[in-house]
Amino acid sequence: MTRFNLRDGVEPQTYGIGIKELWDIDPEKHQPGLVIHTQGWPLADTVGGGFLYHQEENQVAIGFIVALDYENPHLAPFEEMQRFKTHPAIRPVLEGGRRVAYGARAINEGGLQAIPKLVFPGGALIGCSAGFVNVPRIKGSHNAMKSAMLAADAAFEAIQQGSQGGDELDTYPASFKASWVYRELHKARNARPALSKFGTLLGTLYSGLDLWFNTLGLGFLLPWTFGHHADHSTLKKAADSPKIEYPKPDGEITFDKLSSVYLSNTNHTENQPCHLTLKDAARPVDVNLALYEGPEARFCPAGVYEFIEDGTGRRLQINAQNCVHCKTCDIKDVTQNITWVVPEGGGGPNYPNM
Ligand SMILES: Cc1cc2nc3c(=O)[nH]c(=O)nc-3n(C[C@H](O)[C@H](O)[C@H](O)COP(=O)(O)OP(=O)(O)OC[C@H]3O[C@@H](n4cnc5c(N)ncnc54)[C@H](O)[C@@H]3O)c2cc1C
Ligand code: SF4
Repeated sequence: MTRFNLRDGVEPQTYGIGIKELWDIDPEKHQPGLVIHTQGWPLADTVGGGFLYHQEENQVAIGFIVALDYENPHLAPFEEMQRFKTHPAIRPVLEGGRRVAYGARAINEGGLQAIPKLVFPGGALIGCSAGFVNVPRIKGSHNAMKSAMLAADAAFEAIQQGSQGGDELDTYPASFKASWVYRELHKARNARPALSKFGTLLGTLYSGLDLWFNTLGLGFLLPWTFGHHADHSTLKKAADSPKIEYPKPDGEITFDKLSSVYLSNTNHTENQPCHLTLKDAARPVDVNLALYEGPEARFCPAGVYEFIEDGTGRRLQINAQNCVHCKTCDIKDVTQNITWVVPEGGGGPNYPNM
């Protein structure tokens, strides 16, 4: 992005962290095909919501997404997901069942206005690397596949015309703009930023109105496009934010981070350099802990970041072997001090069926 200035002239990309579990449930409670989407609870004034999908073979996929432009550094997305499962409409589905998988991933929420330049010499951005998720529907697979087809067509055309590689696939951005992916994202472009702009209640009303106008072909009456703030810029100081007390896990419906990471089949070869790199090793304590009470210990859904006392004071310990590669730390760290780099040896989570 930086090397080729691909983000020039577009809005910052924004994200949510999606935390997901698979459960084998009581066959009598299973309703194949049932889809539940929620918004809000247990969040109060932070954007987010959950999903529960009844899949094949008596299994449900349940997840909760917290928008990473949240302001309160005491907030812990993992704990919000655990609380979500205790809702009276959700808990009975899980009771008597067994959790079989866990995972977490940042999902891009910037929409059309955050899509960077799609091509650079010798390469193209497709799927989620470009940011093609339809946020109100929480769907990105179809757009990932279609954009890959458009880029492949552009590459095929270039090869037929004698390209030796290393040039820009100019026809790909053009075919993207003419495709149904663009039209779909254009219709949905204001739904997510409206929630941050107007708050959950008014924002939801506005989003519904905007989506309906666009769906009914009346989008020309609402021609504007809302902007975004970068997610790392929104945290308030800990002293200015209400504390949040999260209940302890019960070990049946709600769990702790370490037993969750175990179910992600995460593995990294030992003794490799830490793939969570810090530009300035002092900043986690001097800035993050001092002003924000160390939010990385809460926004990481895998317990990678721990502030520990070692006799000389508190220091940050990075348990990189637990990392489930969600990229939240790289996105949300307030001074952009953390850079996630690819670990050695193809390590990371190994998600079956997620
Ligand atoms: C919690 C959650 C729920 C979702 N639910 C839905 C849903 O119900 N329906 C839907 O349509 N969409 C859903 N999405 C969105 C959907 O998952 C994405 O839009 C889609 O997976 C994007 O596909 P992709 O191929 O572009 O990227 P990905 O699926 O992210 O694939 C990228 C791959 O590249 C690999 N990779 C990354 N860096 C490297 C590297 N340096 N070297 C080698 N490999 C690398 C990654 O490990 C990954 O396997 C959801 C997303 C989340 C987070
Ligand atoms: S270390 Fe970063 S990328 Fe890894 S799980 Fe934690 S927040 Fe996600």
